[in-house]
Amino acid sequence: MKSLPQEDLYAKIFNSALVAIGTTDTKGNFSAVNPAWCKALGWTEEETNTLNIKDITLAEEQQTLNQELSKLAEGKVCSLRKTQRYKRKDGSIFWADLYRSALFNDKGKVMGILDIFVDIDVQVRSEKVQGELFQSLETLNKELSNANIGLKRQAKYDSLTGLYNRWVMLEMLNKEIISSLETNRGFAVGIADIDDFKKVNDTYGHDCGDLVLVKLTQSFLQKIRVTDSVCRWGGEEFLFLFSETTESGAMIVVERIRKAIEELIINYKGNQIKVTITIGVSFYNGQDHLDSKELVDRADKAMYEGKSSGKNKAVLYSNIP
Ligand code: GH3
Ligand code: MG
Ligand code: MG
Repeated sequence: MKSLPQEDLYAKIFNSALVAIGTTDTKGNFSAVNPAWCKALGWTEEETNTLNIKDITLAEEQQTLNQELSKLAEGKVCSLRKTQRYKRKDGSIFWADLYRSALFNDKGKVMGILDIFVDIDVQVRSEKVQGELFQSLETLNKELSNANIGLKRQAKYDSLTGLYNRWVMLEMLNKEIISSLETNRGFAVGIADIDDFKKVNDTYGHDCGDLVLVKLTQSFLQKIRVTDSVCRWGGEEFLFLFSETTESGAMIVVERIRKAIEELIINYKGNQIKVTITIGVSFYNGQDHLDSKELVDRADKAMYEGKSSGKNKAVLYSNIP
C-alpha cells in the first residue's frame, strides 16, 4: 500500500474516526472538531468557531470544568478520564465516556485541550434502569420476607395475648405424650374457661373483655412453672400443659391459678372488674393409650362438670362421678 504523507494520514484518521474528537484552547474555545463530534453534539464545524466548551457543558458541571481546564492549562494534570453528561445544540443531554488531555506545543508548553469521547448514553441509562429495578426488587424482597415473618408469627401466636395458639399446643401435647411414654412420667392438661364472660363484654364492652383476657394471661404466666405451658385455646378458653407431674401436683398448681384469678382486680375506665375461671383437668400417666384429642376432651368434660356444679372451681376428670 502506498503510504500517505503524515499530515494527510492524520487528517484521514481525524475525519473518519468513530470517536468524537474536539480540540480547544486553554480557555475552552474550539479550534477543531471532527465529524463524529459534530454528529454527537449537533453543531456544524463552522458553528464551533464561536463555540466554547462551556456551551456543551451542563450548568452544574461548569465549576468542575473550570477547575479541570485550569489544572490542565497549568500543567498540574496531563490527562483525565471521566463519565460525564454533554448538552447537544438542541438542549438534549447524553452520557459520554471522556478522555481529556492537554495538548503541548514543541516547547512542551500547554497550548490547548484535546477531548475524545464516546457516546455511552444507552449503556448508562440501561444500567440506571437495571439499578432502579434491582433496588425495587430488593425492597419487594424485604417486604416479602417481613410479611413472611409476620405470617409465621401469626401461624404460631395469638395476636391478642401473645400466647401460643392451639395448633402449637397440639404439637406440644403430642410430643409430651411421646416423652411421657419414654420416661413413664405423667403430665396433666387443664382447660380454663372464664365464667360468665359474656356479662363482662355486655356490661363494659368488647375492649374491656380483651383487657381481661390479657390480664388473665399475665396472671397465668406468673403462676405456672417454667416447665409448664399455656396457650389461648380459643375465645376465652386457655389450655395448660403441666409437665412431669402427678394428679395431685397438677391440682395444686391449678388451684393456685384459680385462686389468683379470683383475687385479681382489673381496672377498666374507673371500674374494678373481677372474673373467675373454671378449670377441667385430665391426666396422662405415661402408659395410657390416649391421644392428645382424648386428653383435651377429658379436660373439657371436667371443665363442663365444674360449670354445671357452680363454676369458679377446678375439677379433675378422674373425680367426675
Ligand atoms: P360460661 O360461664 O358458661 O363460660 O359463660 P360465658 O358467658 O363465658 O359463656 P361463653 O363461654 O359461651 O361465652 C364466651 C364469650 O366470650 C362470648 C364471646 O363474645 C366472648 N369472647 C370470645 N373471644 C373473645 C375475645 O377475643 N374478646 C372478647 N372481648 N370476648 C371474647
Ligand atoms: Mg367458653
Ligand atoms: Mg365462659
